[in-house]
Amino acid sequence: MRFLLVEDTPELARSVRDLLVLDGHGVDHAASLAEAEDCLAAAGYDLILLDIGLPDGDGRAFLARQRRQGRDVPVIMMTARSAVADRVDALDGGADDYVTKPFEMSELEARIRAVLRRRGGAAQTLRHFAGVAFDPLAATVTVAGETRALRSRELRLFEILLAAPGRIHSKEHLCDRLFSYAESVTDNAIEVYVGRLRRKLAGSAARIETVRGLGYRLTAA
Ligand code: CA
Repeated sequence: MRFLLVEDTPELARSVRDLLVLDGHGVDHAASLAEAEDCLAAAGYDLILLDIGLPDGDGRAFLARQRRQGRDVPVIMMTARSAVADRVDALDGGADDYVTKPFEMSELEARIRAVLRRRGGAAQTLRHFAGVAFDPLAATVTVAGETRALRSRELRLFEILLAAPGRIHSKEHLCDRLFSYAESVTDNAIEVYVGRLRRKLAGSAARIETVRGLGYRLTAA
């Protein structure tokens, strides 16, 4: 998944970003609303984590503007304010959920999972495909009774492919979903992850086909 983190406190931004990267997500960080606008103009995001008090304005006004423009990306507000009215404001303004600072990283992770699940993003339940049992929460695939651990980016890559079997995903699209701008990755990085994932799926009927010049697709052999 690719996340946009809008937060002007450097330490908090760093810890949230580190956590999400560790979970295998691509994260772009914006320290102001203007930077957030630039990111949104250039890339698609699966989720926005949005601070309220930013140097160039109010996160709630920013969110309202996004919603008016028809941008439906899930948003979790990060608010320092514990007043009920502020939370109600955030939810009324189109936020999917909120966390009150200071928050535990485990709480943030749980809220992210819940929002993505509600929005029909990454399903968190066991799935089966072509002889592979995929458990996204445990980060494992089981093939012919053998359970194999997936590393975080292998897991995200499999989720993307599994969301649309048969569809061709360009390397560019996959890079966009798996990495942030801050990470300089080449197309080779995708090849490496595809190679690793193929080894994890070996023995099942699931195939990651290379479609020359176009990208990759998941099929059942
Ligand atoms: Ca702030």
